[in-house]
Amino acid sequence: MNENVVKRNELLAQKVIKGLQSRNMTGYYAADRGAALRQALALIPKGSTVTMGGGMSVHEIGLVEALKSVDYHFIDRDAMADKRAAMLAAYDADFFLAGTNAITEDGILVNIDGNANRVSAIAQGPKKVLFIVGMNKVCDDLDGAMKRARNVAAPINAQRFGLSTPCAATGSCFDCKSPDTICCQFLITRFSRHADRIHVILVNDDLGF
Ligand code: SF4
Repeated sequence: MNENVVKRNELLAQKVIKGLQSRNMTGYYAADRGAALRQALALIPKGSTVTMGGGMSVHEIGLVEALKSVDYHFIDRDAMADKRAAMLAAYDADFFLAGTNAITEDGILVNIDGNANRVSAIAQGPKKVLFIVGMNKVCDDLDGAMKRARNVAAPINAQRFGLSTPCAATGSCFDCKSPDTICCQFLITRFSRHADRIHVILVNDDLGF
């Protein structure tokens, strides 16, 4: 990566981390995927119960594979036949892992969801939530973050899951009410009531969508 891009990302990450701090959340900067993995494992004590609700970024830094070791109790919802049980188990986990659809420069997280298992667990339930966030997710402001969620993240996810939505066909949001819509719930995380619950690792790389 070009050294000027690296410098810019470091400076931008420090701005986001300051914004998170003002919202009772904790941010970290990782220079690359390996540093992000080390930071995540430093935050999750061995023996923790860990789960997630999707999140390509979490996979991309190698965190899922690392947590499948004997040292952790990783609830792998993809391997569980009873999806409802997996969903309910998430609410009592020590850690819930997630990517984000967007984050603003001043630390507001934006996430959209179809089933709402992901956004509901981010909002309440798991003792801690750990976000893995590539610098490609940082937007100027809340308006930009909402636009990113609808016009970048949602169309790609709709295509990924083979859904019949206007954005899957065109790449842009049409504010649809399609039965397949993945925009059933919007979660704007602007403050954490509970200190030490929400942690965000900003990674100097493009991760997820
Ligand atoms: S509202 Fe519909 S068209 Fe817009 S991003 Fe969501 S699923 Fe796609």
